[in-house]
Amino acid sequence: MTSIIVVEDESIVRMDIVEMLAAANYNVVAEVGNGEKALEATDKFRPDLIIMDIKMPKMDGLKASKIISKKYNIPILLLTAYSHCEYVEEAKQANIVGYIVKPISEAQLLPAVEIAMRQAQNIAELRFEVDHTKKQMDDRKLVEKAKGILMKQLNLTEEAAYQKLRRKSMDKQVGIEIEASKIIEKLR
Ligand SMILES: [Mg+2]
Repeated sequence: MTSIIVVEDESIVRMDIVEMLAAANYNVVAEVGNGEKALEATDKFRPDLIIMDIKMPKMDGLKASKIISKKYNIPILLLTAYSHCEYVEEAKQANIVGYIVKPISEAQLLPAVEIAMRQAQNIAELRFEVDHTKKQMDDRKLVEKAKGILMKQLNLTEEAAYQKLRRKSMDKQVGIEIEASKIIEKLR
């Protein structure tokens, strides 16, 4: 079940949103009325999504979004009475995945939430892929370096050095990159 925090200073609007979400089987874990409270609730509940008004007392939604995004990878859907683009630029650094323009209707809210969740999933997958690719590249560099060391030390061909590295890692049942980093480490 998707957990959501709703941040909106106008209590009637907030109640409406919470009701719509609950009716659609979303789990609203907290509803608060300003940016500061949004930070606290986020620390406490780590929700899957935050729906956040822009104009609020104490701390506005943009500032709160930026602070939250430095700490967590939680998607944020902004609520705004302004359809202007003036905030879009400012919001780029934060994990803002969309805007909903007031007045809010069910027909507008629910698809926006769905899209936001799907987008967040895509971003998470992409991040995983990037991390994975980076590790593969790092591992490859280690293996190349270790291979070079073995070639020089033992006067081996590239293929023989690679096979030696591979055999060692298989014997020890560790990844080839781990064996490679040990060989590099020894030289230091
Ligand atoms: Mg407001």
